[in-house]
Amino acid sequence: MTDTNKEFYFLEDGGEMGQLMRNRDWSKTPIGFPETWPQTLRTTISIMLNSPFPMFLFWGKKLKCFYNDAYRPSLGINGKHPSILGMSGKEAWPEIWDDIAPLLHSVTEKGESIWRENQLIPIFRNGQLEDVYWTFSYSPVKDESGNIAGVLTVCTDTTEAVNAANKLRESERRFREIADLSPVWIWITDAQVNVEYANKELLKYIGLGRSSDFTGQTWESMVHPDDIKLVYDGFGEAVRNEANFALEYRVKNASTDQFEWFKVLAVPRYEDKQLKGFIGTAMNIEQQKCFANNLKSEVEVRTRELEDSNIQLEKMNKELQSFAYISSHDLQEPLRKIQMFAEVLLDKEMDNLSKKGKDKFEKIQSAANRMQSLINDLLAYSRADTEKRIFKKIELQHIIDEVKNDLAEEFKKKNGQVTVEESCSLEVVPFQFRQLMYNLVSNSLKYSKQDVAPIITIKGEIVNELIISGLVLKQNTKYAKITITDNGIGFENQFSDKIFEVFQRLHGKQDYVGTGVGLAIVKKIVQNHNGYISATGEPNVGSVFQIFIPEIHKG
Ligand code: ADP
Repeated sequence: MTDTNKEFYFLEDGGEMGQLMRNRDWSKTPIGFPETWPQTLRTTISIMLNSPFPMFLFWGKKLKCFYNDAYRPSLGINGKHPSILGMSGKEAWPEIWDDIAPLLHSVTEKGESIWRENQLIPIFRNGQLEDVYWTFSYSPVKDESGNIAGVLTVCTDTTEAVNAANKLRESERRFREIADLSPVWIWITDAQVNVEYANKELLKYIGLGRSSDFTGQTWESMVHPDDIKLVYDGFGEAVRNEANFALEYRVKNASTDQFEWFKVLAVPRYEDKQLKGFIGTAMNIEQQKCFANNLKSEVEVRTRELEDSNIQLEKMNKELQSFAYISSHDLQEPLRKIQMFAEVLLDKEMDNLSKKGKDKFEKIQSAANRMQSLINDLLAYSRADTEKRIFKKIELQHIIDEVKNDLAEEFKKKNGQVTVEESCSLEVVPFQFRQLMYNLVSNSLKYSKQDVAPIITIKGEIVNELIISGLVLKQNTKYAKITITDNGIGFENQFSDKIFEVFQRLHGKQDYVGTGVGLAIVKKIVQNHNGYISATGEPNVGSVFQIFIPEIHKG
């Protein structure tokens, strides 16, 4: 066939199918040479071959098959193509003939046109019977004499679209199933916050049967009036920031008419940068809220009670201190008189006393002296609290020199020595700190072993909280750590805390004079400096006292 052969103009072009038709030896088929084909068949085939829309033609009594390139993919890779070209309909489509024959019949016999959408017509292609969905029309093609000679099928294979729609429906069904099982609310709204979908739990709470009854107004009427603004602000901000948001607000329970707390998490949804609505969840947190509120009020009550008893305690403490101070102070006067008259007696009447009398008199004198030191200690103890505290930077070495000077006689008597291994400067109330070091050094001298010269070592260093173990010190604070070590009689470690209590004495009254107040004063002074003290001992080996005082005092 050439371009000049006008007889075959209707088979020109038409892609693969056009070529197939041109190359076919039609003389061997019942349909005969194309030049004998009726005009209507020629015209219809010409239209079909050149149409980009999938078309199929059943022609003649036997309903011979013709189709175009656009239709060809619907026949798959290994299947009917190209063998069904020119074949009778019944032969070409045995698997669906029972379904389509009645349709073709009503077109050829009654001249009806037929339109079907997404109809499942399984066909044999790709080596198997495949479920294929079609949207198609069957229309009659009349020959020159006005009789229906064929059926033109214009169709599209909608399998992919139908499968996609089915998948979507299935995944939506699953989503609804899961959402309805959830104890958490799940909802989707439009941009006006009208609810498009609400799961069962939410509908039940709000007292509605269907999501479609759920409008923005319903929602608004269920939210606690005090929380409405918060809700609007929250939604508004989420839209402005195009971000998820979380809100806690109260919603009315339709069955109890009571408001309960919910934690709502939502995310705005967009399509082409246009706000389309929100997707969200909400969890009932009523119990947590109640628990937290109860706990809060319980803590408030307890804190108030504690504050009250603290105030009470402080008051009592102050009263006790002033009582201790006043009574010690007042006791000084009669004691001074006893001591003064004892002096006079000692001076003037000693010779007149018997040996027994002298003994008794000495006991009176030593008792009076003990009482004097007790009063002095008690006064020092109560003063440690009442006196004004002015902090100053001092050098540890300097304080120790002063203490050494004050105790020079005792050092000499016991042949003792004190060494400052390392000194540091620290911010303290000088006279209190001097008293503290005095008490510790004098104890080390006092509780020395009988035939061993007391050796006291003092070390001052600046440390930070990380290297102090066993003590809970403030973070980010540097401390002056002062260690006083002696080689005295030591003590059992079980008394490490007790020795700091007032009137606590571990060693015999007879052997060591004292009141049991010295270390209590030491502890109080350390506390006045926001510091810590610890003591460890080993009987017959010695004692170690460690003091931690913040390097810089902060008010
Ligand atoms: P005291 O007036 O009895 O010395 P303190 O309060 O100073 O009172 O000390 C309480 C007790 O702790 C003392 O009685 C003593 O038993 C023990 N103690 C204090 N310092 C030392 C030390 N350096 N070595 C051994 N024991 C000590």
